[in-house]
Amino acid sequence: MRSASAPSSSVPTASTPSSVPVRTVESDWRLFLRLVPYARRSSKTLLLSLLLLVPLSIAGAIQPILVGQAISLIRGEETIGFLTGRSLMEGLNLLTWILFITIAIRLAFRGIQGYLVQEVGQEITAAIREDLFRHVTDLAVRFFDRTPVGKLITRLTSDVEALGDVFSTGAIGIVNDLFSLLVVCITMFWLQPTLALMLVLTLFPVTALILYFQHQYRKANYRSREELSLLNATLQENILGINVVQIFRRQRFNSELFRATNDRYIREVDKTIFHDSAISATLEWVSLGAIALVLWAGGVLVFKTAGTPEALTFGTLASFILFSQRLFDPLRQLAEKFTAIQSGLTAVERIAELLNEPIEIKDPGLVQATVQAPTAATLKAAERSGEIRFEDVSFAYKDQDYVLKNLNFTIQPGEKIALVGPTGAGKSTVIRLLCRLYEPTSGQILVSGHDIRSLRQQDLRRYIGVILQDGFIFSGDVASNISLGETYPLEKIIEAAQLTNVDSFIQQLPQGYQTLLRQRGTNLSAGQKQLLAFARVAIRDPQILVMDEATANLDVGTEALIQEALDRLLRNRTAIIIAHRLSTIRNVDRILVFKQGQLVESGRHEVLLEQGGLYASLYRLQMLT
Ligand code: ATP
Repeated sequence: MRSASAPSSSVPTASTPSSVPVRTVESDWRLFLRLVPYARRSSKTLLLSLLLLVPLSIAGAIQPILVGQAISLIRGEETIGFLTGRSLMEGLNLLTWILFITIAIRLAFRGIQGYLVQEVGQEITAAIREDLFRHVTDLAVRFFDRTPVGKLITRLTSDVEALGDVFSTGAIGIVNDLFSLLVVCITMFWLQPTLALMLVLTLFPVTALILYFQHQYRKANYRSREELSLLNATLQENILGINVVQIFRRQRFNSELFRATNDRYIREVDKTIFHDSAISATLEWVSLGAIALVLWAGGVLVFKTAGTPEALTFGTLASFILFSQRLFDPLRQLAEKFTAIQSGLTAVERIAELLNEPIEIKDPGLVQATVQAPTAATLKAAERSGEIRFEDVSFAYKDQDYVLKNLNFTIQPGEKIALVGPTGAGKSTVIRLLCRLYEPTSGQILVSGHDIRSLRQQDLRRYIGVILQDGFIFSGDVASNISLGETYPLEKIIEAAQLTNVDSFIQQLPQGYQTLLRQRGTNLSAGQKQLLAFARVAIRDPQILVMDEATANLDVGTEALIQEALDRLLRNRTAIIIAHRLSTIRNVDRILVFKQGQLVESGRHEVLLEQGGLYASLYRLQMLT
């Protein structure tokens, strides 16, 4: 998030150096192998499309021979076995028919083959997109801390799209081109080894040049996609922060930042275009040169060998001129498909990087299949249900920068606890660790006597209900925003809303529980979103309730309503409450006071006031204001 936090007021110019690293994480072959499991799922269609390549290539290779034989027939030269003894007309008719059949085969099969390949391509990209989505949503929050959303979206959309292009542009036909190349080479050697050798020799420098340009193209392509990610990240940041952008009139400044990123992107794209064009141009020149070479050497051979048993006929020479075109045709095709294939490989590389990102927080079954993990139901029925214990817990978001240090405390079942402390003391971090959004760097956290790492995440999250200050709303109706993907009957949803005194607010909405909410709940106020968050938790009936500044967005009247509902909701449940307004937590059973990641005081409100420590000074300060 460079742009928004850039401290300098000077606008960077387009010459800002790009920080994009060029990494060749996996070799092309390994990247290709990553696609194999996906291709295997559509193996039948893929196999059929590959089999169709055989008649296509053979039909293509026969055509120049037929033309050559027709010329030989007309000139009265020696012809292939099946034509000898036939009259000119008979021979020409036969050749025309065979030519017609080869054309028909190529026309019909090419269409079918192209369709099948694209079908496979779409299936593969859809499967990759699904896997990526599942993988990304399973990644730990720590990963999202360091990855801008725009970058992720680029990988999930345009990178997967670039991979899809490999199929939709017919670039997978590269197999066809290689096969055609092989068939053409074999046929040429069978017809005339000297000319064939000459033509094949020209392939080596061409291949070397292609490989060089390929390498350069690939590097430029990787960089351009990284720049595109940055571009999207900047775009996303500006759209999400549009209120701040407009209030602080940062439009011009941000436009300049955007222009600089955009310029770098275009420069990298230009490089890819240059290398792509260089390949096509080189091939064009080499193929023209090769035809000239065949014409010259072939002409010399025709005259030198005239009258000898190894005489080179005009028919064979004509076939060779056609072959020299055919030989470079697949190569030219390769060059055209080259862009898509290289982009596809870059895309697979970037997709693979994301798929290789380890899932830090796993369910116990996936790490060590020891004893059966307790479910939310068994946790609830447990003897010490609702107990929370932090044992020597330390935590750093990055490296050795500890924000929690050697925390030791126990919260008894049914106890109501408040976490208090100055800004940045680590209160929210305690909650994030308890919900297992992050893993402690050392120590362990137990709920109902079980290490949270031994529980399945879905059971832990069902067991602990969390209400944060910012109640996130998904696009959908009110009811689905309470049930959040689980199948609760409407009566249960209404019951939960009534329990939390939210029902009357929902009833006031135009279509009640069916009212459609926009993405991020832009048609609700912050307080209304918060109310929905309460109902969301109540319906899940958790044993432990965690609230991080949950009532900060509510007006006094609504807060009183929620408070009344909370008193009911919290009966027989453990609760952890973070509130900056200390007046709201006076009645809790115990207050834990944090300072710089350490637990410095613990006790009831009156006791802590009497002690005259940090809590007392914080409380008095608030009373003064
Ligand atoms: P507040 O009362 O302002 O909400 P808090 O006590 O809840 O503060 P935390 O949010 O737990 O504080 O943050 C504790 C420390 O961890 C802070 O110094 C903060 O800068 C740091 N921190 C919080 N989140 C991250 C993160 N995702 N990556 C790196 N550091 C972080």
